[in-house]
Amino acid sequence: AENDVILKVENLEAWYGESHILHGMSFEIPRGEVVTLLGRNGAGKTTTMRCIMGMVAKREGSIAFEGNEMIRMRSDRIARLGVGYVPEERGIFASLNVMENLELPPVVKPGGMTRDEVFDLFPRLRERRNSQGTKLSGGEQQMLAIARILRTGAKFLLLDEPTEGLAPVIVQQIGEIIRDLKTKGFTILLVEQNFHFASTVADRHYVVEHGHVVEMMRNEEIGSNMQKLQEYLGV
Ligand code: ATP
Repeated sequence: AENDVILKVENLEAWYGESHILHGMSFEIPRGEVVTLLGRNGAGKTTTMRCIMGMVAKREGSIAFEGNEMIRMRSDRIARLGVGYVPEERGIFASLNVMENLELPPVVKPGGMTRDEVFDLFPRLRERRNSQGTKLSGGEQQMLAIARILRTGAKFLLLDEPTEGLAPVIVQQIGEIIRDLKTKGFTILLVEQNFHFASTVADRHYVVEHGHVVEMMRNEEIGSNMQKLQEYLGV
């Protein structure tokens, strides 16, 4: 339904120390959609995700998730509401193997996928289950990072540049996984530099500049807005 918005961000402001990074960031995410934040380096995309996850100390405005105001909430409570964050640096445990990584916190919510369920989604991780984190390829590490979040029972996923540094064939696999998660009912917010990739997975895009949203485009509107988009993204 039109009004089934899972996340509504309104007039979000954020600071790192004295640096004012987000300036009136507003956007909303309909349940079940894949939505991207597009924009140049430094526009504030990662900061927005960290605010949603409660990881930026100085933040103001409103972040409502399923009607719960999260602007003053701590990260652990936000995670318990069903929000899962896969940071750009992935956050897997390098010295532990795949199975061990899948048994560790954050396993915070009942209803998370079992290990076998994540292995069904990522057959490559099943093959690599005894390999240490450091021995995994970039793509395998990204899959493991997503798999760990699926274990938590999160239904709303924040994925920060999941394709960064990955070979094209692996980027395609990540795309298939994202589309698969969408059909399973997950809602996904994606930060992407790879605009072509974004257009193969997303329903809508928010263009971010200088800490706020300057444009929303539905994916099917992208073709007719290509020139404008290229100017925004500087490509
Ligand atoms: P990128 O793709 O480069 O990550 P981004 O749009 O995600 O771009 P952010 O990472 O949100 O941008 O950064 C926004 C601004 O905040 C940048 O100017 C960056 O230098 C600054 N910044 C980010 N993290 C910190 C921090 N921990 N302390 C101070 N400033 C920061």
